[in-house]
Amino acid sequence: MGPIEEIRVVRLGMLVKDISAELAGFISRRFHCRMLPTDTLPLPAEGWDPGREQHQAEALLDCLAASGPAPGCFLLGVTERDLWLPGMNYVFGAAQPHGRVAVISLARLREEFYGRPADPLLFLLRAVKEGVHELGHNLGLGHCGNLRCIMFFSNALTDTDRKGPGFCDWCRDVLDGGQRVALTEGPFGD
Ligand SMILES: [Zn+2]
Ligand SMILES: [Zn+2]
Repeated sequence: MGPIEEIRVVRLGMLVKDISAELAGFISRRFHCRMLPTDTLPLPAEGWDPGREQHQAEALLDCLAASGPAPGCFLLGVTERDLWLPGMNYVFGAAQPHGRVAVISLARLREEFYGRPADPLLFLLRAVKEGVHELGHNLGLGHCGNLRCIMFFSNALTDTDRKGPGFCDWCRDVLDGGQRVALTEGPFGD
């Protein structure tokens, strides 16, 4: 059993195509943990900015945390909403460091967003990578300098596509050893 015992993927609002079960399958295998049935929560009104057509990621993390996850259970929210955090125009996801809630946005993960033909498999792979990355923050990992490591910061989708779906040896050691690196307070973006 890894550092995560159970994970539940939670749809925040409607998804264009519901990939939550596939996502949960891939991610639970990555962390060797139990996968709980997926769930849905309505998008909160808090944090929605109609001017920028984006949702403040922290509001979605709060919404997940307020849903009262069972002890030991991690919640990964999935939303179509484009997300942002102070200091960043957009983020692919966000997580509470050392917390048990994280969220990813599907808005910028589709090829169609960039005017290219749809690639459903690539889209799913990107969502898996973003989910694993955010859960890495939950487990106490910061950003990693290894371009191929899942904990490398994704400033753009090219970063996400370049990196692999797993942790580098260094990050893996931190996870296995249960060591905790100092992280900034507040949510981690990307
Ligand atoms: Zn790493
Ligand atoms: Zn990150």
